[in-house]
Amino acid sequence: MTTPLLQVRNLVKQFPIRGGLLQRVVDRVHAVDDVSFDLCAGETLGVVGESGCGKSTTGRCILRLIEPSAGEVHFDGKDVTRAGKEELRALARDMQIIFQDPYASLNPRMTVAAIIGEALTIHKLAPTRAAYEARIVELLETVGLSSDHMRRYPHEFSGGQRQRIGIARALAVRPKLVVCDEAVSALDVSIQAQVINLLEDLQQQLGLTYIFIAHDLSVVEHISDRVAVMYLGRIVEIAPARDLYRNPRHPYTEALLSAVPIPDPTVKRERIRLQGDVPSPIHPPSGCHFHTRCPIAQKGLCDVMRPELKPVGDSGHQVSCHLRG
Ligand code: SF4
Repeated sequence: MTTPLLQVRNLVKQFPIRGGLLQRVVDRVHAVDDVSFDLCAGETLGVVGESGCGKSTTGRCILRLIEPSAGEVHFDGKDVTRAGKEELRALARDMQIIFQDPYASLNPRMTVAAIIGEALTIHKLAPTRAAYEARIVELLETVGLSSDHMRRYPHEFSGGQRQRIGIARALAVRPKLVVCDEAVSALDVSIQAQVINLLEDLQQQLGLTYIFIAHDLSVVEHISDRVAVMYLGRIVEIAPARDLYRNPRHPYTEALLSAVPIPDPTVKRERIRLQGDVPSPIHPPSGCHFHTRCPIAQKGLCDVMRPELKPVGDSGHQVSCHLRG
């Protein structure tokens, strides 16, 4: 069996809530609650769930853009969670992120060349001015833009083009892993498809590994090899994409999938409407976090005992449910 490029073990992130005159910690937001998974080189893991489920925080903790509260992250044999400043800087070359909002994530006062070239300068990847400019042109062409765009500013581009600039910036340091954090969520559906196709082509060409975070199962279906579904900080189901879409096991995944439109008009799928809102991550429900909204929850079991992620079959499909394991 191949060694995973990325191993995440029991990752936890709690954000303290301070209050009172002395600004003491009065509560905590349980954003990521014991998340574990492996990711092999060249693979794409889709991570989905409603907003506030901890998917973006998980991605940022893996890169140490946010400090995890507990747990371990190993990348390419290196312990990310214990890496010092210098080691982290070196790791930043291998692990990059593309942000959701291409309007907010690009500095409006910098030219496209300066935005993409910043990392080349920081990591000393272009020994001469000519090499610096040649690499920027190469990156722009890689993402479907041209050298004419170098001297322009972000406001001169459309949303899709800006996201291409964000992708070029992430690729500048030749990373192995890219966290796409809601990278297409702010774009129109037709532009989403173009950017997803570009990301797939780049994966083929450059051997990239992706964590592709989105709130919608239909967005990750095409690009993901495996999909993890998160609810209130926990992975409730993780499976090869085909398995998950054809045979969802967790009631929450079923509900999410029932909202995904089916292109074939002859196939009817009944929409499952969950009752109530997602509970607060400050005081998540006991036992199975989903029990307050689950249509098949059993009192005395689901509200008391936390279900572990357990394998179903031998395809790598895992589900966290007392009744569907
Ligand atoms: Fe529903 Fe219980 Fe399964 Fe949780 S453990 S998903 S509440 S049936």
